[in-house]
Amino acid sequence: LAQLYGPLNMLGSIYRSINRSLVDAEKLLELLSEPTEVNDKPGAPDLVVSDGEIEFDNVNFTYEGRQPALRGVSFRVPKGGSVALVGESGAGKSTILRLLYRFYDLKEGEGRILVDGQDIRDVTQASLRKAIGVVPQDAVLFNASIAYNIGYGKLGASQDEVEEAAKAAQMHDRIITFPENYDTKVGERGIRLSGGEKQRVAIARTLLKNPPILLLDEATSALDTSTERDIQKALQNLVRGRSSLSIAHRLSTIANADLILVLKDGQIIEQGNHKQLLELNGVFAAMWADQISAAGELPVNGGLREAV
Ligand code: ATP
Repeated sequence: LAQLYGPLNMLGSIYRSINRSLVDAEKLLELLSEPTEVNDKPGAPDLVVSDGEIEFDNVNFTYEGRQPALRGVSFRVPKGGSVALVGESGAGKSTILRLLYRFYDLKEGEGRILVDGQDIRDVTQASLRKAIGVVPQDAVLFNASIAYNIGYGKLGASQDEVEEAAKAAQMHDRIITFPENYDTKVGERGIRLSGGEKQRVAIARTLLKNPPILLLDEATSALDTSTERDIQKALQNLVRGRSSLSIAHRLSTIANADLILVLKDGQIIEQGNHKQLLELNGVFAAMWADQISAAGELPVNGGLREAV
């Protein structure tokens, strides 16, 4: 992965002038090697954001020459709501995020994706992406100060704003232990940050960007308890009042999601909140039981662990 930083940094400086969120989005959406194929319609207006409400309306999508990746996917994320996507590898979770970020456009007959009632194909990509914050598992870091790396979320952010975002992202206390505090260089030629710290940098950047919509990719690997707690707290600060779509790998972290969609082979096979899905006693309940036994823990608190 370290070998990627050079090219990523170079790409980063190119993208930065185009779209300040694209670097983390590329990381999350794993599209570095792919050209984006989407063009705005001539004279397309900007997205007008009122509530940040998202709707997938019977979405079908097939990557060139492949089996369908999404089939008849419909769901809504109401204003400030949280929707979590779960399912085995290849189920279509990332594809849902990629389509909302408009890395691909749906064709006629493939359904619609709406934000505040506007078909995202009909508005400018730039205005759509401005409304969406992306938090990958670990942020792309530049060989620059930690202040720069956080302030990157907002052009012209002041030192106070950077510190405030770092505090809400549970990174401030860590930063003040660095040799030159906020001026400490990070990245491959500076202080190396752990995966959990990088994710908090991404959270701080996104707090500064202040978008109404969030796309999140939760860490796959188990983190130590205090890092986990810090990240959960940072995410709570970020998610509050925003509509969010998260890819969840550890089911304990999404017990509070308003809606959980269980995907399999591109279809939603179960949906509901955590409690409803456990009661359904189907695929989700089996996944939950697997994770609990793999973690060597008994479910407590009615099946909910304190991680949320
Ligand atoms: P994971 O948990 O492994 O990230 P996922 O649920 O996010 O999986 P997707 O990445 O959305 O799954 O993939 C859905 C389907 O589309 C899979 O069959 C996958 O092989 C295919 N796919 C994903 N990305 C591409 C791509 N860029 N080109 C072609 N096919 C793709």
